[in-house]
Amino acid sequence: MKLNLSEHFYSVQGEGKHTGVPSYFIRTNGCNLRCEWTNADDTKTKCDTPYTSWEPEGKEVDLDDILKNIPEQCRHIVITGGEPYINKDLFNLTKNLIDFTTTIETNGTIYRPTLANLVSISPKLSSSMPSGRFSEMHEKGRINYDVLTHLMKNNDYQFKFVLNDSRDLKEVLHIKDTLKIPTEKIYLMAQGTTSAELDSRRYLISQVAKETGMNITDRLHIRLYGNRRAT
Ligand code: SF4
Repeated sequence: MKLNLSEHFYSVQGEGKHTGVPSYFIRTNGCNLRCEWTNADDTKTKCDTPYTSWEPEGKEVDLDDILKNIPEQCRHIVITGGEPYINKDLFNLTKNLIDFTTTIETNGTIYRPTLANLVSISPKLSSSMPSGRFSEMHEKGRINYDVLTHLMKNNDYQFKFVLNDSRDLKEVLHIKDTLKIPTEKIYLMAQGTTSAELDSRRYLISQVAKETGMNITDRLHIRLYGNRRAT
């Protein structure tokens, strides 16, 4: 089976309920959104994997070449992106990985059946809106309640919301109420691709978590390795 991939590598899951679990990452190429956040000082932060979205650089990789690189002690696979649900063969990919525990990380805008053990859904809030030619595409596509409902109905799932500033909370609560997401399934994560950026939103995240009962997730891989590819 051939996959259009950006990269594959062994690391540690840095986000959500499996944080800290040694995991093999299969990063698919391509995304249907173009996230870009505006910081308090008016600087912009693009998607943390622009090489899968803004400037995609994929190559065809045979699944067997991936499987032979997975260390024997690794039991968890993260299929991430880009947007993995773009891949029409996603069901077969998860079927081929049935001996592992698998998590798929998605922006929640495309539905396909899979055999994943967990779907980690990260709907993109209006604060992720880019300027320029991708803004209309991004705005039209970023929230799809039918897809989110299907993902919730057919999978074990968690939600991960990226908070840029306090204005994001209203939208998180609206999505939570609309979909009736149980509070314990929601993780709040600071927007940031450096430890300094994550720290600048640490107080916001903890306040919102305490007020709402939602969980916090850090980005452990940024703490461990910085924002470097394949780490
Ligand atoms: Fe990047 Fe994810 Fe946004 Fe796509 S949805 S542009 S991969 S952050």
